[in-house]
Amino acid sequence: MDLTSPKEIRSVQSKFGFTFKKGLGQNFLTSHEVLDEIVRAAGQSDGILEIGPGFGTLTQSLAESAEKVVSIELDERLLPVLDYTLAEYDNVKIIHGDVMKTDLHSLIKTEFPDMSVSVAANLPYYITTPVITRLLEEKLPAKNIVVMVQKEVAERLAAREGTKDYGAITVLCRYYTEPEIVTVVPASMFVPPPKVDSAVLKMKVLPEPSVKVKDEKLFFKVVKASFAQRRKTLLNCLCAAFPIPKTEMTEILTNAVGNPSRRGETLSLDEFAKISDIIFERMDG
Ligand code: SAM
Repeated sequence: MDLTSPKEIRSVQSKFGFTFKKGLGQNFLTSHEVLDEIVRAAGQSDGILEIGPGFGTLTQSLAESAEKVVSIELDERLLPVLDYTLAEYDNVKIIHGDVMKTDLHSLIKTEFPDMSVSVAANLPYYITTPVITRLLEEKLPAKNIVVMVQKEVAERLAAREGTKDYGAITVLCRYYTEPEIVTVVPASMFVPPPKVDSAVLKMKVLPEPSVKVKDEKLFFKVVKASFAQRRKTLLNCLCAAFPIPKTEMTEILTNAVGNPSRRGETLSLDEFAKISDIIFERMDG
């Protein structure tokens, strides 16, 4: 069954009386090439955790190359559809649930014991950022996280310092992973077509965070505060977030990054780490 064919999608729709729910981000992929790119980017893993299988288009491709695929789908109406479209695959398990409410650590432990795991998903737009934030912050034991997201979101996640796209979410992504935009996918490659273009983003999970910090929570507090008001200087942003006198903060920033009037988007991860380590020592001491 070729689920990338719009004709086949219509036929499955009419067989099950299925109508797309915009609110659940139901835009199904219709390109073999893009499916192949996602599978390739996910790399050689024994297990794949998929989020939002829809009709099972990507699930089929993943099941061809991995030993086991576990897919979490929120929409109950899709369960009988997936039974039908994935009938040939005995290495796929569908879990009915909300990815945001699922304990992913224990799921991986139970479903993929002693297996290498990657995450692959054509994510619903309405929860892209919370899902990615969760996947990263929870430090899942995944090799690669490959997600199809809105193009602009992919650009923000993979941005370089000094660009307008660089922000707190970029630092989060680059702290835990090495991100790379694999391909851009025009809206016309989905049924129904969304309003925006998409991109496949591969995040290769690093064995250790890309910078060493004394206190991770404090590091991310510094990062968030530095981007909270983009037009303000680092000095003003950080003074608003920490109870440290301006003269002292000026000294901390001069030591850490040279000039306290810089803007957050010009700072490398190393520089954020330096600032947070100095603040940590001051608060500790
Ligand atoms: N994987 C399919 C494809 O590539 O064609 C469908 C992707 S579609 C963009 C997103 C899917 O995620 C839909 O099937 C939708 O029902 C499901 N979904 C939406 N919110 C979800 C949630 N919170 N947890 C799990 N799945 C969800």
